[in-house]
Amino acid sequence: MACDGCAPEDLGVADDQRFRRVLWLALIANFVMFGVELVASWWGDSVALQADALDFFGDAANYAISLFVLGMSLQRRAYAALFKGLTMAAFGLWVIATAVQRAITGSVPDPATMGAIALLALLVNVAVALMLYRYRSGDSNMRSIWLCSRNDAIGNLAVVAAASGVFMLGSRWPDLLVAMLIAGLSLSAAVQVARQALSELRSPVYGRSASG
Ligand SMILES: [Zn+2]
Repeated sequence: MACDGCAPEDLGVADDQRFRRVLWLALIANFVMFGVELVASWWGDSVALQADALDFFGDAANYAISLFVLGMSLQRRAYAALFKGLTMAAFGLWVIATAVQRAITGSVPDPATMGAIALLALLVNVAVALMLYRYRSGDSNMRSIWLCSRNDAIGNLAVVAAASGVFMLGSRWPDLLVAMLIAGLSLSAAVQVARQALSELRSPVYGRSASG
């Protein structure tokens, strides 16, 4: 789900070579899962998987920002956060539009594809969380990794629940319901990120970056 705190903000740690490698792994894992879920959402006719792909996209963007933008000026960080927020908002609107379209015309998604891919997503999220957890720095970073991973796991389990619902009811509605929920949460988080970035860009003294 919309997690905006997976990637660290601590520059001292981000400089560390081993930690950068872990961030790279997290970036690649999230980006690959973004692609896997997008293809699977098309293959299995599932909007919930499409919505969950949005979270992997957002997380990949967070890791990319940590790797490439965190050391830059606050202004650049705000622009990166704004770009991320707007991209995610557009993506969220696309998911919601797809859900509405499927609600009207759609077929029943394939629950096996949904369940299998959601479980794979859960595995990847847990693996990334454990990897990051070893390199956590300070209490707030630890807490954000925990919160973010928990939200991601809840999102993955919601897709598994939707798959069971689709299987038992033979209906597309559980898929659409979970898709709307995940996309709605991601959309509101994306709007918040974009708003904060905009206010930072407007203020003469840049505040805390919204990139985290
Ligand atoms: Zn996430």
